[in-house]
Amino acid sequence: MEIIRQPNAMTSWSDEMRDAGRSICLVSTMGFFHEGHLALMRKGSEIADEVVVSLFVNPMQFGPQEDLSSYPRVFEKDAAMAREVGVAVMFAPAPEDVYAPGFQSRVEVDGLTEQLCGRSRPGHFRGVTTVVAKLFNMVKPHFAVFGEKDFQQLAVLRRMTVDLNFDLQIIGHPIVREQDGLAMSSRNSYLDEEERRQALSLHQALLLARQMVVDGERDAVRLQEELGGFFKKFDRAEVDYVAVVDSENLNAATVINEKSLLVLAVRIGKTRLIDNTLLMG
Ligand code: AMP
Repeated sequence: MEIIRQPNAMTSWSDEMRDAGRSICLVSTMGFFHEGHLALMRKGSEIADEVVVSLFVNPMQFGPQEDLSSYPRVFEKDAAMAREVGVAVMFAPAPEDVYAPGFQSRVEVDGLTEQLCGRSRPGHFRGVTTVVAKLFNMVKPHFAVFGEKDFQQLAVLRRMTVDLNFDLQIIGHPIVREQDGLAMSSRNSYLDEEERRQALSLHQALLLARQMVVDGERDAVRLQEELGGFFKKFDRAEVDYVAVVDSENLNAATVINEKSLLVLAVRIGKTRLIDNTLLMG
């Protein structure tokens, strides 16, 4: 596995691969790999000849009160894990090479970013779309795989790709979970023992909601209220949002149907966790 630091070296590598007729899949990450990241990389190897993993803790997508400086960084361990699953290149640029002096451009998707995580994390999606657009230009992939755990991010990036005519295909990957159901996340490492126990409330809420739908519930507002009450049983849990939305456009749903997605953002202690599930099927 090659480790590339410079954006122009990354682009030259990709140009060579493209000239040789090899397809490239990008998996963009902030590192501290877990099975969720590795599953995306394996998916990349199934669909393309070469997998490029970017590792960049993107300052632009963190708010002033967020965990940029404390975000876990374990470069050597990540490199070993990526090598193990057959990644061709780990692209790990420095912030000053991604945002060179004088940088003053932004990529912004409207609408889709104005609700859910966009509301509680102002500027977050602007940071994500700006860096991913730059990564698309630096890596020139044919495919890019993103996890459905970050469902809104996936929807926003699909929109950006269509709207800005990026010549690549976006692939979504199902959520990878711990054995007890907690969605894997680099941020789970912040949880102490009691918080780790209470973090299971997110998965339990998804299961409760799916059961309510199996039992005939079709009223999204009633379901949201029931889940709001459920989280009150957990003293470390503070709900940011519990919402039923249309999985295609993320608009709030009133009646639950096949397209309805339940999305959750809950703070467990200081750690903000997200999860989601389709409510039917
Ligand atoms: P991150 O390093 O947290 O920015 O995540 C990098 C990529 O991995 C994103 O596309 C995430 O959606 C995806 N990802 C993170 N956790 C999971 C998970 N538990 N299951 C599936 N994909 C995930």
